[in-house]
Amino acid sequence: MSEIRCPACRALVRSAACGRCGADLTDVIRAVSWASRLTEEARMIFLRGDFDTSAALARAAWMLRKTDAARSVWILALLAQGRGADALKLWVEKNTSP
Ligand SMILES: [Zn+2]
Repeated sequence: MSEIRCPACRALVRSAACGRCGADLTDVIRAVSWASRLTEEARMIFLRGDFDTSAALARAAWMLRKTDAARSVWILALLAQGRGADALKLWVEKNTSP
């Protein structure tokens, strides 16, 4: 799992309670875990050729956590759906954001 930071103080998350500010991070960890599972599921479903479901799952993962993996699967699924303009918009957003 990639690095997670406390949304309150930006400390690196190492447990369900932030070591710096004490914030309860249970929901943050749960959301990150869900995003990871959704991304993997989107990838597997893409490989099976169900691009509509893959795009929906990748989008859901992206909404939970903005990772390159989720965005890449989403872009590929959009392209496979023939939604090149939407894919390009997402790609441009990816490559022009700071
Ligand atoms: Zn914190």
